[in-house]
Amino acid sequence: MLAQPIKNIYTCFPGGRHKALTFSYDDGREEDRRLVALFNQYGMRGTFNLNAGIKTDPQRVPMSEYAALYKGHEIASHTYLHPTISRCPLDQVARQVLRDRMELEEAIAAPVRGLAYPNGSYSPQIMELLPMLGIRYARVVPTTGSFGMPDNWFAWAGTCHHNQDLLNRGDQFLARHKTQYLDLMYVWGHSYEFTTHDNWQVIEDFCAKMAGHEGIWYATNIEIVDYMDAANRLQFTAAGDRVYNPSACSVWIEADGKKVEIPGGTMVNI
Ligand SMILES: [Zn+2]
Repeated sequence: MLAQPIKNIYTCFPGGRHKALTFSYDDGREEDRRLVALFNQYGMRGTFNLNAGIKTDPQRVPMSEYAALYKGHEIASHTYLHPTISRCPLDQVARQVLRDRMELEEAIAAPVRGLAYPNGSYSPQIMELLPMLGIRYARVVPTTGSFGMPDNWFAWAGTCHHNQDLLNRGDQFLARHKTQYLDLMYVWGHSYEFTTHDNWQVIEDFCAKMAGHEGIWYATNIEIVDYMDAANRLQFTAAGDRVYNPSACSVWIEADGKKVEIPGGTMVNI
């Protein structure tokens, strides 16, 4: 038994994949209608970061339409009124987040657990505060230009803004065939920018290019976080011959190159 060889055991995305694609769009403006329709047409999944307190702006989608419009995507918080929160008293930041969560949750009848920092503003204290407010991750503005997974979910940087050479980056992502790493392409922006810059063609071409690839997991931001949390809860024997999945969802691993699904609540021999 002790002489058993050591296996290389890797975490995989659902289905045994090693690539995921996600989007994050802020502010809930009317142009989200066109963007969501495009995502739906091509099977893309995204996260929409919304301010429940900005109610009278005619450029924004009314909250009464959130549930229907964003169905199949994630609704996340962007704080209640979009302040620059690193300048705000911390207790007021807490109110901005909780009030936003509560109104968004009432609109969609589901928990809201993600956040994009409004104006990209945050601080070490705010990063510590957010988990206590039921927030599980937060997106920043600077981007990495790369396809790695984040070290810190509360300073989650995207790969690129959609104006940063999106189509070439999409080609680079599709061309990656090495499977040593989990690859994530994460695109962020504001849908109204496509109108401002008259470049809807960029996102239309990108979605067409990226659609329907068997090897890509199309996921919202929170689905990626929740899946990685479930993966991190797997319980392996030291010998690496058995694994128990205490979560409700399936988790996929690769053991010496063999892909294995571990259904929720089960023990699997590997
Ligand atoms: Zn914003």
